[in-house]
Amino acid sequence: MFENLTSRLQEIFRKLRGKGKLTEKDIEEALREVRQALLEADAHYKVVKELLNNVKTKALQEDVLKSVTPAEQIIRILYYELLNILGGEKVDLNLGDKKPGIILVVGLQGSGKTTTCAKLAYRLSQEQRRVLLVGADTFRPAAGKQLQILGEKIKVPVYIDGSNPFEIIDGALKVAREKFSDVMIVDTTGRLHIDEEMMNELSELNKRYHPSEILLVVDGMTGQDAVNIAEKFNEKLPLTGVILTKMDGDARGGAALSVKAITGKPIKFIGVGEKIEDLEYFYPDRLASRILG
Ligand code: GDP
Repeated sequence: MFENLTSRLQEIFRKLRGKGKLTEKDIEEALREVRQALLEADAHYKVVKELLNNVKTKALQEDVLKSVTPAEQIIRILYYELLNILGGEKVDLNLGDKKPGIILVVGLQGSGKTTTCAKLAYRLSQEQRRVLLVGADTFRPAAGKQLQILGEKIKVPVYIDGSNPFEIIDGALKVAREKFSDVMIVDTTGRLHIDEEMMNELSELNKRYHPSEILLVVDGMTGQDAVNIAEKFNEKLPLTGVILTKMDGDARGGAALSVKAITGKPIKFIGVGEKIEDLEYFYPDRLASRILG
């Protein structure tokens, strides 16, 4: 992820540093190249435009041209602007004040939703939380079975009894209370495309169960599509965060660069592989440093 972007940026920085004293034209040209590199990484054009405007404004304010190390100043300004669009600080998971806390995991089929539920359950159980996995995707019947198999592997209990999501979650709540679970991770219904039936069901779940988190899982490899999907979900549901999956693939990184800026919702985790432990907390500062190389 981001290898192309990083090597492009490094090349731009190398040229800038090599010049010593910079003119306004040098900076203009470098920023034009940065813009091109970000767009080629599939970042949203609005995000790129705003980022570069901010860099230009700050460069002027700070009188970068008069500095003894103008290239370094520009790179530093760029770092903080990148950090800003990536979300700034890491945002923690909110498990609510009541037990069990409820995390609704939503997303389209194929995004990695069910796998991500299990990965998240594994991570939280590693952090000594008592987790109950709940398979409430009755639209794709195989999802429940898949969750059970994953649950067995990570030794986390899974609840899937019932014919509709409400019956399943009501039953799961009883079990979670009996088991003194800290949190229920609920795999919800998916579709190949966003449709009204799915969004209505998810809205009803939100109204009835007041989850402390509604996490949207999107396939990070799909770049702009991932951002569009996040925007659409966010219009209908009060999302609390986004999980980008498949960031180990040849994802160019555009989704990671744009989701927060476009939806206002933080990326909380990234999926970096098919194994159960391949889910990482999202640290904007680490990613910003990595992108700049
Ligand atoms: P769902 O339909 O959204 O529930 O999707 P699944 O959880 O069944 O996942 C679809 C496919 O994506 C499976 O083959 C997963 O192993 C794969 N997958 C999920 N997350 C990741 C990830 O972070 N990296 C990679 N490489 N594959 C992933």
